[in-house]
Amino acid sequence: MEFQEFNLHPIIAASIKEAGYVTPTPIQQQAIPTVMQGRDVMGLAQTGTGKTAAFALPVLNRLMEGPRGRVRALVVAPTRELAEQIHESFVTLGKQTKLKSVTVYGGVNVNPQIQALRNGVEIVVACPGRLLDHIGQGTIDLSGLEVLVLDEADQMFDMGFLPDIRRILGHIPAKRQTLLFSATMPPSINKLAHDILSNPVTVQVGNTAPPVTVSHALYPVEQHLKTALLMELLKHTDTDSVLIFTRTKHRAKRLGEQLEKAGYKAASLQGNLSQNRRQAALDGFRDGTYQILVATDIAARGIDVSQISHVVNYDIPDTPEAYVHRIGRTGRAAKSGDAFTMVCSDDTVMVRTIEKKLGAPLERRMVEGFDYTVPAPKKDAEFARPPREPRPTRKPAQGQAKKSSVGSINPFKSDHPGNKPAGRPQQPRPGAAGGAPKPVFNSSRRGK
Ligand code: AMP
Repeated sequence: MEFQEFNLHPIIAASIKEAGYVTPTPIQQQAIPTVMQGRDVMGLAQTGTGKTAAFALPVLNRLMEGPRGRVRALVVAPTRELAEQIHESFVTLGKQTKLKSVTVYGGVNVNPQIQALRNGVEIVVACPGRLLDHIGQGTIDLSGLEVLVLDEADQMFDMGFLPDIRRILGHIPAKRQTLLFSATMPPSINKLAHDILSNPVTVQVGNTAPPVTVSHALYPVEQHLKTALLMELLKHTDTDSVLIFTRTKHRAKRLGEQLEKAGYKAASLQGNLSQNRRQAALDGFRDGTYQILVATDIAARGIDVSQISHVVNYDIPDTPEAYVHRIGRTGRAAKSGDAFTMVCSDDTVMVRTIEKKLGAPLERRMVEGFDYTVPAPKKDAEFARPPREPRPTRKPAQGQAKKSSVGSINPFKSDHPGNKPAGRPQQPRPGAAGGAPKPVFNSSRRGK
C-alpha cells in the first residue's frame, strides 16, 4: 500500500514525502481511511508504530477545508514531552498547510499560550491540567471543535487524569469526531471508549508484542553490581544512543551523575526537573549532545527518539506492559535495536510474567570477564538508601493524595531492590532469574 492511495491533499502528500515516509505503517493503513471517513476510532497501538501520523495526517487533511483561526482539533496527551512530539508531527506533516498548532501544558509560562490562542490556531495539543486552567479562565474557545484525539489514554488513566478528561468533555461540542488511542485496554479505558465514542471502528496493531526488530536479553546480576555491569556493557557495546530506565527519580538522577563522572555524555530525565531542564535533556539526547539518557517510566513515556539503538532496563519494569512500552523505543520504524534488562534474584516472578506475555523465553547473558563475585559492600553504596523523606504528619488533602501518587514508586517499600538488608555479603547468583546465562562479547552482537 502507498500513501497516494489515501488521496490526501497534495500539500500534505508532499510533506509526507519530505518526512521520508514511503510506506504507511500498519496502524496508518487501518486508521487513515477510517478517520478520513469521519468515523470515531478506537486505536490500540503502542508508541513506535507510527500512531501519531495515523491521526495527524487525516486530521490535517480534514482541516484543509473549513474555517481558519479557531480551534478545530484538540489532542490531549498525558505528558508535556509527548505533547511536544505530537505538535512537532503536526508541524512537520502540515508544513505548507498554514494550519497552526500550539502546545498547552503546565510548568511553563501561560502567557505565550494565551497569546498564541488569541492569535488564532486550528490545532491544540494539550495536557489535561493546563487545558482545564485555560477553559476555566476563558482563554480558550473550544466551541468550534470538530475532532478530539485522546492519546495514550491508558497512561492518562494511570496518572489519574480521567476525571480531568471527563471535565474537558463537558466543555466541548457533543457533535464531533473522537479518536481514542491506547496501548492497552484495561476496563477503565474500555468504559471510557464506550462512553465517548459513537459507533467506533477499532484498529489494532501489535499492542502486546514488542517490535520484531528488537533483540532482547537478560543480564542476571546482583543489585550492588548493576552500575559496574552497565559500565562494562557500555564499554563493549557499539551504541548510538542509549535510553536507560530506572525505577525511581532518585536512581535516575544518581545513575546519570555516575555515568557523567565515568566520562559519558549522559543526562537524566525525571519529574523533579524544571520543564526547561527536561526539554534540554531531551533535545540534547535527540541531537546527540547526550549519548545516554537515564529516565523513569513516566518521564520517558511516549518519547520518540528515532535513533535509539539500545534500551537498558537498569531496573526491571513493574508490569509486562511497561516492558513492551520501554523497549518499544528502540527498533522504531523497522530499525534494529537491542534491549538489555538487568535482573536480580528478586525479579524472577516478573521475568516469568514478561516471558509469558511475550510468548517466548528471554535469552540470559553473562558478560565475559566481568567479576560477578565482588561482594556487596557492608553499607550498600549502590543507591541502597536514598535520603529519607519526612513522613507526612497529617493526612494529605484528597486532591493532593492523588497527585503525589502519580506514577511514583515508593523507594522505601520492602520490595524495592535497593532495600535489601546490608549485612552478610550475598553469594552472587548470576543465573538467579532462571536459565543458564550465555557469555557475551564474543557472540550475538549486532553488526554495524
Ligand atoms: P509514533 O508511533 O507516532 O511515535 O512514531 C514512531 C516513529 O515512526 C516516528 O519517528 C515517526 O516519524 C516514524 N514514522 C511514522 N510513520 C512512518 C512511516 N510511514 N514510515 C517511516 N517512519 C514513520
